[in-house]
Amino acid sequence: MDFMDSIRGMSFFDMHVHMTSRTTDDYQAMADAGVVALIEPAFWLGQPRTGVDSFRDYFASLVGWERFRASQFGIRHYCTIGLNSKEANQEELAEQVMEILPLFIYKEGVVGVGEIGFDDQTAAEDKYYRAQLDLAKEAGLPVQIHTPHRDKKQGTSRSMDIALEHGLEPGMVIVDHNNEETVREVLDRGFWAGFTIYPFTKMGNERMVDIVKQYGPERIMINSAADWGISDPLAVPKTAALMKQRGISDEAIRLVTFTNAVTAFAQSGQLSLEELIQPVGIDQSQRYNGSSILRGGQAPRVDKESTIIK
Ligand SMILES: [Zn+2]
Repeated sequence: MDFMDSIRGMSFFDMHVHMTSRTTDDYQAMADAGVVALIEPAFWLGQPRTGVDSFRDYFASLVGWERFRASQFGIRHYCTIGLNSKEANQEELAEQVMEILPLFIYKEGVVGVGEIGFDDQTAAEDKYYRAQLDLAKEAGLPVQIHTPHRDKKQGTSRSMDIALEHGLEPGMVIVDHNNEETVREVLDRGFWAGFTIYPFTKMGNERMVDIVKQYGPERIMINSAADWGISDPLAVPKTAALMKQRGISDEAIRLVTFTNAVTAFAQSGQLSLEELIQPVGIDQSQRYNGSSILRGGQAPRVDKESTIIK
């Protein structure tokens, strides 16, 4: 992996990645590439859920088992909790999810309400987006907004309009999945601008380099949004390497791949820069509720250089 040579010694914060659908190999590769912390926003399964208990268990795993699993690779795991836009369209279920959200958003490691916003821009999406903005405001938590793939420009403007209408400060709102069409307005209005480097659909990282060159590093942050689709959990370190190769300063790279996300989400009171620069002690024989990431008799840490698998 030659990109590793360009970024040796750097630390990264992937502020949007769905680790529940990734493997231990991904955690190991991320740790090796310098990812020290991440945020896992609550999202959908890829297929409809059949009951509120499915949400309950999922939210509980985001603040529980998944957090523990990340720690076993030396990575600090935070999450945002919310009803995502796609699932807001199952209204009967959405009502029940709204009732359990307050049980989760105050838990340790929850740094915001997210990812919420618009997908198809339906009336139901609008309703539950607004209800969750009120919840975030009441809890004093940042909001992580998913912007739609279709009618992105208009959907992004509308998401910001509604956030302001509900009394949120732009500085408490991270507008995610931006592109060349949306970035100007998001920055001009004082919101944080997240960019997802996701193969073939959202943004390629060469385009990302151009955006940072054009707009500078203020209030911009990069993530992988890696999930169960064809995605890349190393998108943040790889983009940092590309930015370095294309002449962007180390200081600017650190802002867009680490510090800006820390500043934005530290407003939750659940994370701090001081905390993030301390290494996590790794002991893979630790257990969470009696369960370990090791399976019967396994030794901690797999030696990836060896061809022999013992
Ligand atoms: Zn996502």
